[in-house]
Amino acid sequence: MQTSSSHLETRAVHGGMSGVRESGSHVPVIDFSTTNPLGSVEAGGLSYEELATGHDLGEDRSAVYQRLWQPGVARFEESLAGLEGTDGAVAFGSGMAALTAVLIATASAGKPHIVAVRPLYGGTDHVLESGLLGTEVTWATIDEVGSAIRRDTGLVVVETPANPTLELVDLRRLADAAGEVPLLVDNTFATPVLQRPAEHGATLVLHSATKYLGGHGDVMGGVVAADRDWVERLRRVRALTGGLLHPMAAYLLHRGLRTLPLRVRAQQETARELAERLAGHPAIARVHYPGLPGQDPQGLVGTQLEGPGSIIALEFAHGFDAAVRFTESCELVTHAVSLGGVDSLVQHPASLTHRPVAGAAKPGDAVVRLSIGLEHVDDLAADLLAALDAAASASGAEDDADRTDAGQSAGDADEGSSTRAA
Ligand SMILES: *Cc1c(COP(=O)(O)O)cnc(C)c1O
Repeated sequence: MQTSSSHLETRAVHGGMSGVRESGSHVPVIDFSTTNPLGSVEAGGLSYEELATGHDLGEDRSAVYQRLWQPGVARFEESLAGLEGTDGAVAFGSGMAALTAVLIATASAGKPHIVAVRPLYGGTDHVLESGLLGTEVTWATIDEVGSAIRRDTGLVVVETPANPTLELVDLRRLADAAGEVPLLVDNTFATPVLQRPAEHGATLVLHSATKYLGGHGDVMGGVVAADRDWVERLRRVRALTGGLLHPMAAYLLHRGLRTLPLRVRAQQETARELAERLAGHPAIARVHYPGLPGQDPQGLVGTQLEGPGSIIALEFAHGFDAAVRFTESCELVTHAVSLGGVDSLVQHPASLTHRPVAGAAKPGDAVVRLSIGLEHVDDLAADLLAALDAAASASGAEDDADRTDAGQSAGDADEGSSTRAA
């Protein structure tokens, strides 16, 4: 049914569906079993051994125990691997659980040194900087990666487009610099619709599936797409440490993949138009968006990256206060963390997602991040422009030294946003 020569859109709809039609169903049945009948003692023992060491579930074998194998999780993994163009994929309970498994596999193989390129997702930055999982990090620019690599380097980590300001990294160049060292690319922002890092030299492709893959803000998950050897290593770590994806979450993520190409491209078209409309606004010093003129000097959009995606970062001309006022004044766009869903979100990275990031690597406090959803572009533009006006009038009030009024109205906005969050 699914051929590797079919187009991405077709694979997104039909991937991971093997055997469903033959079973008389139209969609997969959700299997919540935590344990499974074993057959003979001998057969049960062999199944256990194979799964615990990371092998596929063999014909006529028992799945044994949900921590070792879950059929709906395997369907989601097969479909995602089909989109990324890798041998397989291994899914986890969150993006951070997926990253954790990679770091544990790396450190336990006697190569605990990681070379990482900033900027990264705040949580990724924090877990690397903390050394919590027995790794040691060297932060490097693209040009420094080659010389930062040591005999005990087990991984190079990068994110492109990067969070929150959408810097792009030339993956082929980075893979060349990494040489024999595995390259992990966090592909959460681009999704396989816009970028398939394995085609550009990545060994491991990581997603917070919580974002675009699920796409509706109602399911958490993480996944790593990789070659057969890495798939086995990561399944082994998952079986031992238990960072599992729940069967219901796997079902929702698998379903999410079916509309992924449609959602990603529609959200991108809206973001493209909004970025252009906002670019000239006097309250904004810079709109960070790789689709705007001059923001892709390496020419990666259209080659490595199909399009600029649907995350936009706004840098305010009047600093932190204007950024806060804007964030709290959005109404249709919800003030909330996360991204990639059908509804648009706004957040202030320096206060929230990137709070634990060390000093100079932290995004500026005048920066606000938008995740553009599937609402009509005119409704989003109206909401964002009204919030920009509110931000501009607040900085005007301060210029008049009318600080009491400005402080009060900022307090009111605070109350409003916490009511909405509750
Ligand atoms: C959210 C996110 C993560 C972490 O994923 P969780 O599912 O929240 O654990 C990692 N990388 C990027 C780029 C993210 O946006």
